[in-house]
Formats: sequence, C-alpha cells, structure tokens
Amino acid sequence: MHLTEEKYWDERDLYSGLIRLHILHHAEEEGVFGLGIIEELARHGYKLSPGTLYPLLRSMEKKGLLRSHEKLKGGKIRRMYRSTARGPHALSMAKEKVYELFGVLFENWPKRRGRGKRI
Ligand SMILES: [Zn+2]
Repeated sequence: MHLTEEKYWDERDLYSGLIRLHILHHAEEEGVFGLGIIEELARHGYKLSPGTLYPLLRSMEKKGLLRSHEKLKGGKIRRMYRSTARGPHALSMAKEKVYELFGVLFENWPKRRGRGKRI
C-alpha cells in the first residue's frame, strides 16, 4: 500500500474510534500496556507509534474509561491500563453502534470479493 503521509494521517483519523474500542476491549479482558497493545494492534493491521499510542491511552484515562498503575516486571516499570467501572458500559453501547454500522457497510458487500484484508 502506497500512501502519502497526508493520506495516511487521514486514514488513521478514520480508524481512531476503532482503535479506542479495540483497546477498551482488551483493557476489559486482561489489561493492557503500551508495547503490548502496539503489537496487538499491528497484528490487526494498525501501525501506531508510541508517540501516538501513549497520548491516546492518557486521553482515555482522562475520560474515565481506563485507569492505570505501575507494575514492576523483569526489573522494568510497566504502566498497566485496565478498564474502569464505566468502561464495560461504554463498550457495550459502542458495540451496538458498531453492529448497526456493520450491517450498513456490508449490506451489499459483494460476495465475490471474498475475504478482505483483515483490519
Ligand atoms: Zn485484539
């Protein structure tokens, strides 16, 4: 995929809500830390730098969706993020909207296209 930097930024802006929901999902399931979530998102085709991810995590914490604490792991301090009590409710509301949008987006999705690129 060849994208100009400007185009790349536009697309990332488009995906930012999906990325937040993905983070919230894992924060609810098992808790996340910066590098771990960068790898997890990369596995799904989202390339985020620490410079983008950490402010995103902090903004989600500020909004009361995540809470964090420092944990010592292998001699290194790692900041772990977990969902707050508000997180699951916010996520389930968003899931209803994603489900609705999914129906709209894929209503006439041509079958011949087969499996699309995983995002
Ligand atoms: Zn995931």
